[in-house]
Amino acid sequence: MPYVASVAITGVALLLVVLASTRWHLLLDSWALWPAVFLASAALIGEIRPLYVSKGDAPAEAISTSTPFVLALVSLGGIGPALVTQVLASLVDDLRNRRGLQKTAFNTGQYTLSVLAARATYAGLTGLPFFGGPVGVDITHLFPLLAGGVVMVVVNRLLVAVVVSIASSERLTTIIGHEAAFFAATQLVLLSIGGVAANVAASGIAFLALLCAPAVAVYLTTAAGIRHAHQASHDALTGLGNRSLLHQRLRTATARAQAAHREGPGLVLLDLDHFKDVNDTLGHIVGDDLLREVAQRLVSVLGDDTHANRLGGDEFAVVVDGDLVATQTLAHDLLASLEKPIRIGDVELLVRASAGVAIGPEHGTDADELLKNADIALYHAKVERDRISTYSARFDVNTVERLRLLNDLRVAIEQDALGVVYQPQLDLTNGRIVAVEALIRWEHPVHGHVPPDRFIPLAENSGLIAALTAHVLETALGSLAAWRAAGHDLRMSVNVSARHLSDLALPRQVHEALTRHDVPATALVLEVTETALLSDPIRARVVLTALRRLGVAIAVDDYGTGHASLSYLKKLEVDELKVDRSYVSDMGRDEHDFIIVRSTVALARDLGLRVVAEGIEDASTVVALRGLGCDVGQGYHLGRPTSADGIAQLLALPPHDPSREPAPVPELPTVPDGATTPPSGGTPVSATDPSVGV
Ligand code: C2E
Ligand code: MG
Ligand code: MG
Repeated sequence: MPYVASVAITGVALLLVVLASTRWHLLLDSWALWPAVFLASAALIGEIRPLYVSKGDAPAEAISTSTPFVLALVSLGGIGPALVTQVLASLVDDLRNRRGLQKTAFNTGQYTLSVLAARATYAGLTGLPFFGGPVGVDITHLFPLLAGGVVMVVVNRLLVAVVVSIASSERLTTIIGHEAAFFAATQLVLLSIGGVAANVAASGIAFLALLCAPAVAVYLTTAAGIRHAHQASHDALTGLGNRSLLHQRLRTATARAQAAHREGPGLVLLDLDHFKDVNDTLGHIVGDDLLREVAQRLVSVLGDDTHANRLGGDEFAVVVDGDLVATQTLAHDLLASLEKPIRIGDVELLVRASAGVAIGPEHGTDADELLKNADIALYHAKVERDRISTYSARFDVNTVERLRLLNDLRVAIEQDALGVVYQPQLDLTNGRIVAVEALIRWEHPVHGHVPPDRFIPLAENSGLIAALTAHVLETALGSLAAWRAAGHDLRMSVNVSARHLSDLALPRQVHEALTRHDVPATALVLEVTETALLSDPIRARVVLTALRRLGVAIAVDDYGTGHASLSYLKKLEVDELKVDRSYVSDMGRDEHDFIIVRSTVALARDLGLRVVAEGIEDASTVVALRGLGCDVGQGYHLGRPTSADGIAQLLALPPHDPSREPAPVPELPTVPDGATTPPSGGTPVSATDPSVGV
């Protein structure tokens, strides 16, 4: 930036001129030499031990405590010594913070110009020569010296504010406005200490040393107060800003962007994948070390003015004072910083993370809205396995809670933690189990049992449904193969979603699964809903035909709740019709329901379809259905969903007459929490359907 270069060049040139023009012997031969050395040392120490002061909403800022001592030197040592001290202090600070050459040169120029301005003001108001030697500060010099101090601070801040204004295209007056009150408060205290020091120095170094005690006391109390304020706004584990500081940072950045009428601020939310596993398997100490290392890696890609925050757990956030492209680029950099494995003790850990991005004002005009939308984007990224996702209004169908649930579901699928239960279907005439329906079960580690009606629609809206169906099909065929090996010939019904019917790869996958388990295709029924059949009818037809060619039967599930006419379904060549339980369970009491069931059964039989009545809850319904000629039934009265072992037990019993008595409840080996382990891995599922209790 030409501005930075011109400040640096002018400042450094003037510094050289002053160094050459200073008559050093004036100080070296004078009484003021040792007090000046004392003040210069104090200034250097002050630079190394800055105070970190929070100003209102903004992040804490380092305030150099060298200012009062440099000011005292402006009168006591003359321009040369004051300038050398200030430039040395600034160089020490730049070196400690490993600032680049350009920044260091700018700082040198900026401090030179401010100290020169201070001396010029002081000399002008007192009538002393600019290059004059040491002068003690009495009461007549006190005001000019303080005025010099104010000029020094103002010039200094102004030079910096211009850089900020150019970089952020914010108006200079706005930036100065932000800072004026804060600097007036902190700098006036420091400048008055400078005035006192300059006055006391004339009485000798011993008095100056006496001034140290109260100065150090003030420093320590201020530092302790600041430390407390820091603790309240920072995360103890990583030292990063906490949630409340993130809110402040977002508010400040939003106000800035709005004042400058530009896009921004950006917000990147970042969450580690599978962090819980690290904690669970390697312990919290390793988990904490990992979080600290992650924090350091994130900080390493941030510039001086951008800060990382930890929102608790394994979630981090960064506010970006820039547009969407800058925010997305930073999100990439942040994730890239985690790519190299992290070594903790003897273990090397590979950390993966996902990021959600939101940008103001498009995705939110205040901190809360930006956070909410970045959170939605983050969970979208997790669920869809994109590493970075930028918020879009179309994600809004999913609230954060739903997305979190979906992410937990993805983890459950990956960890093979979903269970499958089976509900028997009985031949209503003789009570024999002729089929079972596989139903998915999910015991959430925190929320407990989550009903399929809650998570299946979510899975359908994301890419997860494919993995979910594959899991159920695999488990169900495994169980079926075991029952068949024990001599039981029965069918297995598996629910498939609308999405699968447009998936031309489904028939091949089904065929492979059948072959793997050595189960004949005729033993498998795939249940689809009417709405699924209607949503993409042309593809559905292709997929269904291919499946039927394999020998797999197709059932229309929940029949009567959609809008498909039976004749249309017939054209699609389905094999089975499952009359929805909303008609069946009430057919004994509601004449209207009874008529619907009667006509459906009659029509289906005419079309040559097998009819399964769902939701049979009592013996009288069995009698009624038998009278209508319905072949097969399913419902709590005939058997609740149960584990594979439960089905094996039921299969071993002699058939019972369902029109007389309810189905026997299998006696299952239970583990202490009342759950049984399903046959092929997965989480324990209740002995009988947990959603309805027994
Ligand atoms: P569905 O396919 O119609 O499954 C039958 C549902 O009715 C099951 O609920 C079952 O527990 C319940 N049920 C059975 N008999 C009775 C009864 O006599 N009375 C009453 N009130 N309910 C009865 P569940 O397991 O909660 O499943 C709900 C729905 O979730 C299923 O309806 C199905 O659409 C879907 N679903 C379940 N598992 C899967 C799966 O693996 N894949 C897909 N895509 N969907 C599934
Ligand atoms: Mg079903
Ligand atoms: Mg159904």
